[in-house]
Amino acid sequence: MSESGTQRFSIALHGGAGTLLRAQMTTEKEKEYREAMAMALRRGEDALREGQSALDAVIKTVAALEDAALFNAGVGAVFTHEGHHELDASLMEGKTRKAGAVCAVKTVRNPILLCREIMNSEFVMLNGIGAEEFARTHGFEAVDNTLFSTDFRRQQLNQAKAKGIVQLDHSAADEVPPPNRYGTVGAVAIDRNGNLAAATSTGGMTNKRYGRIGDSAIIGAGTWADNRSCAVSATGHGEFFIRSAVASRIASMVEFGEQGLEEAAHQLITHEVGGLGGDGGVVALDAQGQVVCVFNSLGMYRAWIQHEGPVHTAIFNDDDVVH
Ligand code: ASP
Repeated sequence: MSESGTQRFSIALHGGAGTLLRAQMTTEKEKEYREAMAMALRRGEDALREGQSALDAVIKTVAALEDAALFNAGVGAVFTHEGHHELDASLMEGKTRKAGAVCAVKTVRNPILLCREIMNSEFVMLNGIGAEEFARTHGFEAVDNTLFSTDFRRQQLNQAKAKGIVQLDHSAADEVPPPNRYGTVGAVAIDRNGNLAAATSTGGMTNKRYGRIGDSAIIGAGTWADNRSCAVSATGHGEFFIRSAVASRIASMVEFGEQGLEEAAHQLITHEVGGLGGDGGVVALDAQGQVVCVFNSLGMYRAWIQHEGPVHTAIFNDDDVVH
């Protein structure tokens, strides 16, 4: 545990963005999602309250979301074309700009924990079989790939295959109940010492093949943290987020462009990603602990604590429930 500083901590998470409409969500499902987000956020909050680092906090929050079957990360991840799960994740620390990322792992229960090991090694990014080998040599037990399987994700794969499409978790398929379409997870935090961190984890997209990797594994696209500007975790149509280098460009605009975080995030999500035809959003926070949630989809699962205040959860556009 580190020496606790005097700055008030903040933490925010997302559980995916997409066509989220109140009319399509049952009261029970909504409650389930809000409770899962609040629980995961509190894992990070507890760590920050004890004086642990922002890095520890985002890892704890994302690991809790990976374990929750509601989201498209870890347990509950979407299926590939071949009927497996290939998980991507990334992590960055704002003080050192050390980073760890992993693509297409199949037997690591919590990819975000593996990102921390990679961050602490000589590497930044490992993929597939090599990443699995690295995991074994660093004490990660191999789990069966079916551990991540859930019935509703299999249903999504069957529907995507029947239609012959590669489906983003965000894309609207009328037959799929809306709460099941979304779910990449991420977190950003600032600790009492003013250090920032960001983490993101996903199963990618339903029916993906050819070793497709999205932005969630890519430092600078899906994840970025730098104490001089902000921490960002993204969710959305990964190809557009990679082409827009969303996370690092938001940070550059804050650092060099004298723009506020909210303005920078809007620029990237609305004009850059949106301009290319993509959708999604980010949770981000700046060096003062100001939290920002920006998306150009109809909704985004999100939760935050700003300046040690209460837990907020939100799903829809005009939404803010204080817990
Ligand atoms: N960004 C993720 C990807 O493209 C998907 C998501 O955010 O749900 O793999």
